Amino acid sequence: SIVFDEIEKSYGATAVLKKVSLSIADGEFMTLLGPSGCGKSTLLRILAGLELQNAGTVSIGELPVDGIRPKGRDVAMVFQSYALYPHMTVGSNMGLPLRMRRLNAWQRLPVVGRLLPGTHATTRDIAAEVAKTAEALGIGHLLDRKPGQLSGGQRQRVAVGRAMVRHPAVFLMDEPLSNLDAKLRVQMRGEIKELHQRLGVTFVYVTHDQAEAMTLSDRVAVMLDGELLQVAPPQRIYADPDDRRVAEFIGSPK
Ligand code: ATP
Ligand code: MG
Repeated sequence: SIVFDEIEKSYGATAVLKKVSLSIADGEFMTLLGPSGCGKSTLLRILAGLELQNAGTVSIGELPVDGIRPKGRDVAMVFQSYALYPHMTVGSNMGLPLRMRRLNAWQRLPVVGRLLPGTHATTRDIAAEVAKTAEALGIGHLLDRKPGQLSGGQRQRVAVGRAMVRHPAVFLMDEPLSNLDAKLRVQMRGEIKELHQRLGVTFVYVTHDQAEAMTLSDRVAVMLDGELLQVAPPQRIYADPDDRRVAEFIGSPK
């Protein structure tokens, strides 16, 4: 499970997260939903180790991870911008986390939890893993292209593939569909749902899109101004919002 315990974060004098506590079960699809600036990405980045909280602790699989660097955590993140390296081919981009993992193992960086998959992978193992993953995502024919030669949807799949090769215990996705047109967004939403069902691992998903949150999630955590207003299954949030601010944001009748 993932546990955020009283997480606080400020930038200068501005409190961005105010004692946020949240538990996420193994295999759960949890969505952080809230308007722009409410602190969703900050909370996700703290879980990934990309940002350090000012107070509170985060655990993944019962283990506190506060001193563990991003690469030592058993998580993989898909960013809104995809963050692909433009000078590398699709295949190199997708294999990068595994090449880094191998390097980290040599450097004996601290790692949390289980032995991370691919730690002892050979170059051939990595190529095979990348090819298999790309095939499964329908981008097997694009491995030699550069990101600049891909459509938005294809780039999005590469970013998902680069997360998948790590076989993480936890997938983190920060508005992964926001750069896609409406039609593709709905299609990819279905694919993300399938991916979650197929892999059975924990997903922590960030969006400000209510429809996305409602269709994808086991539970939704509604955020506003650095606080969690309500954490509940989509139906409950919609039919029985805890307060007016939740109702307003969800657009439910209450
Ligand atoms: P969006 O939906 O627009 O992505 P968000 O909910 O992800 O918003 P965050 O990116 O977590 O919001 O930002 C929360 C608040 O923290 C915002 O007011 C933002 O301006 C501020 N913030 C984020 N990163 C920094 C930073 N590095 N320095 C200063 N302020 C920051
Ligand atoms: Mg954000």
